[in-house]
Amino acid sequence: MKLPASLLDAPIQRKLVFVAIVATLSATLVAALFSFVQQWFLQRDELARSVYAQTSIVAANSSATLLFNDREAAEQMLAAFAPIDNIEFASLLDKSGQNFAAYVHPGLTMPPHQHAVEEGGLSIKTARYVEVVLPVVLKQEQIGLIHVRSDLSPVYQRLARSMLVIAVSSAGALLVAVWMLLRFLPAITAPLTALLGTMNRVSREKNYALRAEVTSSDDLGTLAHGFNVMLDNIRQRDDELARYRDHLEDEVAKRTARLTEAQRIARLGNWEWSIADNSLDWSDEIYRIFDLDPQQFDVTYDTYLSFVHPADRPELEACVRESMAHGLPYSLDYRILLPDGAVRYVHERAEVLHDKQGRATVMWGTMHDITAQKMAEENIRKLNEELESKVQERTRQLVDAQDELVRKEKLAVLGQVAGSVGHELRNPLGVMSNAVYFLQTVLAESDETTREYLNIIKTEIANSERIVSDLLDSVRTKPPHLETVGVAELVAQTLGKCDVPPQVNVVLDIPATLPPLRVDALQIHQVLRNLISNGIEAMPQGGALHIRAAANEVAKNIVISVSDSGVGMTAEQQAKLFQPLFTTKARGIGLGLVVVKNLTQANGGKIEVQSEAGKGTVFSVTLPTV
Ligand code: ADP
Ligand code: MG
Repeated sequence: MKLPASLLDAPIQRKLVFVAIVATLSATLVAALFSFVQQWFLQRDELARSVYAQTSIVAANSSATLLFNDREAAEQMLAAFAPIDNIEFASLLDKSGQNFAAYVHPGLTMPPHQHAVEEGGLSIKTARYVEVVLPVVLKQEQIGLIHVRSDLSPVYQRLARSMLVIAVSSAGALLVAVWMLLRFLPAITAPLTALLGTMNRVSREKNYALRAEVTSSDDLGTLAHGFNVMLDNIRQRDDELARYRDHLEDEVAKRTARLTEAQRIARLGNWEWSIADNSLDWSDEIYRIFDLDPQQFDVTYDTYLSFVHPADRPELEACVRESMAHGLPYSLDYRILLPDGAVRYVHERAEVLHDKQGRATVMWGTMHDITAQKMAEENIRKLNEELESKVQERTRQLVDAQDELVRKEKLAVLGQVAGSVGHELRNPLGVMSNAVYFLQTVLAESDETTREYLNIIKTEIANSERIVSDLLDSVRTKPPHLETVGVAELVAQTLGKCDVPPQVNVVLDIPATLPPLRVDALQIHQVLRNLISNGIEAMPQGGALHIRAAANEVAKNIVISVSDSGVGMTAEQQAKLFQPLFTTKARGIGLGLVVVKNLTQANGGKIEVQSEAGKGTVFSVTLPTV
């Protein structure tokens, strides 16, 4: 059952009043209806009984009229019904069922009717009338019938009266009900209204500390108590929620700070690029890497690209394109140019996200400042190179020192040998030389063979003397006797004492403008002679021997170079070049260059060599000028 629509949103008090009135009205109506129906049946039965009684009296007195066929008397008899207003008609029928005499209420006509004689003792009740049909009996034989109909007007009159009584008492009952309702309703609705008020305040003020007043222990009291418990729970949860929110905010702030700090320490930032609206989001650390202020700079993809080193930009753009097209992550090292022109190295890793249609929507990644690493790598590398060259230099120095040591040891040994053997040999060689001179003089007219042998002896004695003097020069160098001497003059004198074979072409390149040397002329003669003879010996098939001189005004020295187009030397040979007794020649002694080096150094100069096997050799002697 539903309330009328207009009452759906009405206050509960009005609803209760409505329900009470409807209930009272319905109860009264049902009671009235029930009593009406009962009354109707009772009244009609009573009317039927009364008509029956009267009819049976008339029936008992009518037998004589029928027996004697006295219609007049019969009609007088029936006229006894006339004072009864509600009798519509009364009719007496004979044995054959034919109407014998009748009474009809004025203004009405008698409806046609016929009854079988056997009929009798009938009482017919309808909603409009009651009828009584009784037999007329004489000496236990039925001689006719009497049929009376009465309308129900007395019944309805009485019913109308009792209805009025019912209506009045119902109205009274209703009034009493409403009065009682209005008296007792506030006792029900007041706590409800108070609860409602508290509820409204709570929802308006969001104040969960408010409490509803509990005035009874009935349903409403339980409701108010339940409401208070609910408020308690809400307040408790609210407090918990607030505490949790505070804790969460603390936690978020702490973690954000830690993350920012971690990014700062690692110099690693993160970024997110929303491709659709081309917005780029950088963490603070990336701004720091770019030397920018996050508060004053709004970054876009294009401005970011403009910071990338132009040389690295194409590769980066290609990586981004590839990643977007195939959905693959990329990682790349590239440089960025800071506003002050400084360069930073970064290592970037990125990933891309696609939507259902396969379009790249978001790209995110990290950027790591690896400038320090790169610089460090560059430094270790440089350090490595330096170290390597230092090691090489040191090794070279060690090898040189070792060579020098070996040279000195050899020279020391040589010195001892030369000291004793040299002197011992010089005297006999001098005697032999004098003897050969004597023999050549006395045997001037001797045969060819004798003269030839004497010449051989003379030459070998000279060679031996040279070896002895070389030996002595190589181990002990006399202090130079410095004098001023021209280079051209020195070279010309030296060449004059050298045996230059015809297949060797000597080419001189000595400028006339050279300043004079300040050296021991005899010692430098010996130096040049050794270099020239070595050059000639290196070209057994002939070739060109260049002697050049060039001055260095600043260093105040002259470089005299002797170059040949001969056999040249391997690196191995060059390493041993200045060691005493190193020779590759069958009749060589390996002292020439030892003497050259000693004398050059004694004159304040130095000697260098450049040579390539099969191509030739250049010896350069640097000597001081005046
Ligand atoms: P020697 O001439 O007695 O061999 P040196 O000291 O003059 O002794 O020379 C030593 C070695 O150096 C030579 O045996 C030769 O192997 C090499 N040498 C010197 N000068 C030249 C040169 N101009 N071309 C090629 N090799 C040379
Ligand atoms: Mg030599």
